[in-house]
Amino acid sequence: MPIDSRPRTDYPNAPMFADVIVPRHLAKTFTYLVPPSLVSRVGVGQRVVVPFGRTTLEGAVIGLTRDLPGGLNVSQLKAIASVSDGDGLSGFSPGMFELSRQVAEEYIAPWGQCLRLVAPPARAVAQPKWSYVATSQGRLALEQGSCPEVHLPLLQRIARRKKGLSAGTIQSSRRSSDRQALLFLEAQQWILRSEGAVSNRPSRILGSKAGTELSTPVCVPIAPAVEVMQRLQMLMQACPTRVLIDGVLDYRVGIMARLAQLVLEQGRSVLIIIGEVVRAQWMAQVLQEATTYPVTLQSRGVSGVDAELNGKVAPQIVIGTRSAIFYPLRSIGLIWVDGEEDSALKEPQEPHYHAREVAWMRAQREFALLVYGSAHPSLEVRSVGEIERVAQCREPDSFPQIELVDMSREYGGAPFSATLTAALRATVAQQDRAILFLNRRGYAGALVCRDCGWVPRCASCAVAFVYYRESARLVCRYCGCRESLPEICGACGASRLSPIGEGTERIEQEVRRLFPGARILRIDRDTTRGVVSTRRLWQQVHSRTWDILIGTQALFQREPILPVGLVGIVHADSGLHVPDFRAAERTHQLLVDAVDLARPAPSGGRVILQTALPMHHVMQAVAAHDPAIFYDEEIQARRMLGYPPVQHLIYLTVSGKDRRLTEVAAQRWVNELHKMLVAAPSRSASAQQSLSADPQSQGIVVLGPVAATGVGSRGTLGWHIMVKGGDRTAMRDGVRRSLETMERAYPGRTFKFSVDVDPVDMG
Ligand SMILES: [Zn+2]
Ligand SMILES: [Zn+2]
Repeated sequence: MPIDSRPRTDYPNAPMFADVIVPRHLAKTFTYLVPPSLVSRVGVGQRVVVPFGRTTLEGAVIGLTRDLPGGLNVSQLKAIASVSDGDGLSGFSPGMFELSRQVAEEYIAPWGQCLRLVAPPARAVAQPKWSYVATSQGRLALEQGSCPEVHLPLLQRIARRKKGLSAGTIQSSRRSSDRQALLFLEAQQWILRSEGAVSNRPSRILGSKAGTELSTPVCVPIAPAVEVMQRLQMLMQACPTRVLIDGVLDYRVGIMARLAQLVLEQGRSVLIIIGEVVRAQWMAQVLQEATTYPVTLQSRGVSGVDAELNGKVAPQIVIGTRSAIFYPLRSIGLIWVDGEEDSALKEPQEPHYHAREVAWMRAQREFALLVYGSAHPSLEVRSVGEIERVAQCREPDSFPQIELVDMSREYGGAPFSATLTAALRATVAQQDRAILFLNRRGYAGALVCRDCGWVPRCASCAVAFVYYRESARLVCRYCGCRESLPEICGACGASRLSPIGEGTERIEQEVRRLFPGARILRIDRDTTRGVVSTRRLWQQVHSRTWDILIGTQALFQREPILPVGLVGIVHADSGLHVPDFRAAERTHQLLVDAVDLARPAPSGGRVILQTALPMHHVMQAVAAHDPAIFYDEEIQARRMLGYPPVQHLIYLTVSGKDRRLTEVAAQRWVNELHKMLVAAPSRSASAQQSLSADPQSQGIVVLGPVAATGVGSRGTLGWHIMVKGGDRTAMRDGVRRSLETMERAYPGRTFKFSVDVDPVDMG
């Protein structure tokens, strides 16, 4: 019997069709027939199992209709196989739905993953507040071995902790065996409930009231000049548009508070995005004092329903980290991304979105003003011609005095030069304070010449080689080429090549040896592991019960510190040799921040910058307080070598359990990419025109596969591929098509393919 494919809306029993998105790197939907037996159970947001090619996948229904979409024949449609249990996705607004699709397209990510970003989280289930502790009978049962085997693991887990195991932790494991074990152990009186136990999980800190973790904020917002506010108000008439506010924190906060107040008075809300959680908490506190409107600190635990209600009731300020860019607010007038250069704004997992770029997508949808705030803007933002720049004008006497010390002329390899040692001595004698800054990123494993600061680099990629001690080899992380260890320095011929850097611990020992009477405090990754100890340490920082503070970039990730008399930058170059094309840019940012830890010169502020590369453009720019020296030379280098923002990168990863099979798959992906991108490059006409003036930007190259360093989650091994070129649209298009081929060729779960468009951290 022929099947009538015309829409049959007039029949209540007409077949129903579902638009389903599947966990593949495809930003489109597939139409399935809803079998009559499932019609009552399939709703929008429902997770369903569908046949897909030769396999089945779990997808999500995002639309239902009784009208068959044009061009489809019902006889060709496959039917939904079954309905999955568990929570579906629901409650997202149409605008956010479209935003998720745009993010999926932009970042070549599975749409379903992006949809999860905008779907309001399910209302949090109330967590039980008690813990289970082992009784003395329980401990006896353990010793005597009288606990049945099946319940033994849980009893052991509980007995191991003096304060007990929280009921929430056990509940979240969702294992039915645990529930049975609990009932059994409680009945035996081997465990009992203990009320009011405190958990120190960091997620609680996220959800805690703004500012409770923080000491008194150190911030004196600078009132913005009348012309600046006039200019910004004019830009607000021309929304959507974006502007860069280039200045120190106090300057930015001054403008932020005034601008936020203006937008709120117009009845629209303000969304502020900051990379670091604690910095966001601090900012919430500052703005709460500066404006008369409610400030909400967004955290993952916030109920979406409350968020929607808040949006309807009154305009408000919402502050959060990168995922807050998807916060369901109605009518946004201002989005402010502060510290736009912070790599924490880029999501490290798929979908690899960058909150700075998603902010622009959202601002355009909301007709909002987008502000990028930074004390050292990224080359990406500076290079976008349409972004207006409002720069703080700093008087020369607002800077500290800076001295460059050429470490290649110092003898003996001691960490402190004679100049720095003398300055420290004078500072301690005057009962002033000193900060010694070390760049933690320097320890990523490069090799450096102790005499001249030369670092072996890949000839074609210009990034520092990674040094593998075990195999005594140098490997390029971008293209995978290898070299044996050089005997002597390639620049000065000396034979003092060694791995970079001294740790903060070694510096602390040296300071204690030199200044036995001084009070010394150290802030780095090792001393700031626990939440409680970190808070205590920062209270000490602010109470100023120290003479010398030794710190890494951990110093810049929280509330600001009052400036001191002396800042010593111990190894200013170390960050330059990180195998990353942004190494110089990151080093510049850190050094600018470190310099700002010293008081202005008229108040006795002094910075001593130790470097083996005093002529490097980063050192020259920092010493002269002139960022233009850095930016001008850096953009030239990026153009020469074909790196962003001049060219674009897409970073691909294949991971699987079997190293050899994964390599074969990676090699096949490279071949597909070659076929689609390199052999017959398809360029969009506009890109062709703009590129013809710049011969370096021509063409797309595919580098790799390169074996990933280390083992991934669940013991997988990865291979990386890098696509590099000037035509972003053509690159994305080719990568998407190659990915479809790969996912069709490997339909099972043997391999995971992931895509990072505009990568920030590669490795
Ligand atoms: Zn040398
Ligand atoms: Zn290379």
